[in-house]
Amino acid sequence: MSLRLDTLRGVGPERAAQLSRLGLVTLEDLFLHRPRRHEDRTARLNIRDLKLEMVGTIRGRVVTMGVSRFRRGGRSLFELVVEDGTGRLHCRWWNLPYMQNYFRVGADVFIHGKPISMKPRTMDHPETEVIDEDAESCLHLNRIVPVYPLTEGLPQRWLRAFAWHQVGEFASRVPDPWPPGMLPGRPSRAEAVRGIHFPATVAERDAARERLALDEFIALQMTLQTRRRTLEAKSTGIPCAGDNRLIKPFLRRLGFTLTPSQTEVLRTVRQDLGGRHPMRRLLQGDVGCGKTVVAACSALMALESGWSVALMAPTEILAAQHHRNFQRWFDGFGIRVDLRTGSRKEEGKRAEAGGPVLFVGTHALIEESCGMSNLGLVIIDEQHKFGVGQREKLLRKGAYPHLLVMTATPIPRTLGLTLYGDLDLSIIRHSPGGRGEVRTFVRGEDRLPRVWEFLRQKLREGRQAYVVYPRVEDSGGVGLKAVKQEYARLRELLAPSAVGLLHGRLGAEEKQSVIEAFREGRVQVLVATSVIEVGIDVPNASVMVIESAEQFGLAQLHQLRGRIGRGAHESFCVLVGDLRSSEAAERLGILERTRDGFEIAEADLRLRGPGELVGREQSGMPGFRFADLRWDLPLVEEAREAARRILDQTP
Ligand code: ADP
Ligand code: MG
Repeated sequence: MSLRLDTLRGVGPERAAQLSRLGLVTLEDLFLHRPRRHEDRTARLNIRDLKLEMVGTIRGRVVTMGVSRFRRGGRSLFELVVEDGTGRLHCRWWNLPYMQNYFRVGADVFIHGKPISMKPRTMDHPETEVIDEDAESCLHLNRIVPVYPLTEGLPQRWLRAFAWHQVGEFASRVPDPWPPGMLPGRPSRAEAVRGIHFPATVAERDAARERLALDEFIALQMTLQTRRRTLEAKSTGIPCAGDNRLIKPFLRRLGFTLTPSQTEVLRTVRQDLGGRHPMRRLLQGDVGCGKTVVAACSALMALESGWSVALMAPTEILAAQHHRNFQRWFDGFGIRVDLRTGSRKEEGKRAEAGGPVLFVGTHALIEESCGMSNLGLVIIDEQHKFGVGQREKLLRKGAYPHLLVMTATPIPRTLGLTLYGDLDLSIIRHSPGGRGEVRTFVRGEDRLPRVWEFLRQKLREGRQAYVVYPRVEDSGGVGLKAVKQEYARLRELLAPSAVGLLHGRLGAEEKQSVIEAFREGRVQVLVATSVIEVGIDVPNASVMVIESAEQFGLAQLHQLRGRIGRGAHESFCVLVGDLRSSEAAERLGILERTRDGFEIAEADLRLRGPGELVGREQSGMPGFRFADLRWDLPLVEEAREAARRILDQTP
């Protein structure tokens, strides 16, 4: 399979260069060159039966063609008219005058595209292929044909014929990477290579795609599971299950009872902490579902057992907040709670010689060189803000401590198993009750005056509000200027309420003082960019207006919305956007319908793909050719099982 394509017949230096521009150097590359789509040429339409906006393929004969040029801007239009006995179809290409070299009047052509108007029937920039009744025509006609991604100078027909010959000659020799019998009911890899290029039926192509996707998932799962198995072979779990000595009084003074979800997670964690191998667990739960208490109880289990604990948070604000909470919660337990951030290294005052310590900090914890001995458990809050590398570095501070990572970004299971496949997953499904409702409304930009009127009403009632604008940080000076203008406008519009401005370009102190003023109620309205996503908790803020909402991802809007509904008042989230595209209206409508973060994440994954969902911080997204994280959950699960069986068989 490592045979080089440039050694094959018919591949001269020019073709070889074109192929390598597509990344095709070896036979294997060619076999895994995925067709952009397949065209079922046995199922052609008559021109008469084409429907508006519906994709279809027709076969016809060119009756006339020509280029018109426009004086202004040097634009041009190439037009081609084909006929098939049932009707005529006009095809148009803008600014591609050389298209006329590909056709001649009288030639037979395939046209694939969708009509944008019916009188006359017209397609803009359809895909075409001139039919040339040669010896190989059986390959290009009357069957399901692959349509490949191309590069300049490389004709579709040449690549198809080339693939046809190589698949015919060599595909049967493609080896199966896994031991026999591992994937019952699936085609062999050799069959899959044939099926992805030249399937006899659509079902055969789909089965081939699934098999090749499965191979990609299995390879990834093998890596993840091997990492986990290596860890378990090298290490034994530190006994950290505790004896309830501190948890009991802690829960008693907490002021609320744990939800069933929280209790269940803690039961699992206790099992892990008393198990043979170090815990490696990811805890997912929506904003506000109560992960901090779960972290506290887990920490207490280790502390009761005489082991120290490190808790890492993504920002100084969050670390300080945790430090404050845990100090209060653990008061009188004889446990030192240390804060270690870049700007502050505080030694505990009631240091008990040799006793276990809870270290709270930012990534500064990773740099810490001394004083973190005896680590039994590492907890990482908001895992998605850290990379895998940082996680590993913190773990290396101890002799295989247990690990609990927590994330407030619900991620669909397909992604979870892919990105965090070496971790066990726990989910807190439901948030504690007793919060104010959040009602969400989607409104077009023309409704803004009424939105501001509504906002003024709520301010008069004594509530506070956020007004959010998208992505100033990314869009540079222009975007920042826009927010500053809006800020000036809103100050006038909402007077006499005080309006504050918060964005990513402010210094840490400025930021802090704006947040303080809002927290203390000196400022009633906070105009902000998405920097407010993490870390602000103001229960009296019960209204959020998000402008240009269509520019945000659903998951991000959901996170933003998590800032309100924290007090007893009914809260309102108004998503204002450009709703002219039905897609935007539909997308935002999902947030009107549900507050389930997982459902929203699933929808976001389907609509915008995995890259948008995990965000830019998240590196390590594997690139797949055949696998599709949006739809392939069953395949990921099958791959996980298969990888387990394969590893069990091959020591
Ligand atoms: P997150 O999961 O976003 O980190 P927190 O741990 O900050 O959420 O919890 C949000 C709020 O809910 C906190 O004020 C916390 O004290 C409260 N809380 C947590 N668990 C419960 C519970 N079982 N019942 C009532 N309130 C709870
Ligand atoms: Mg939290």
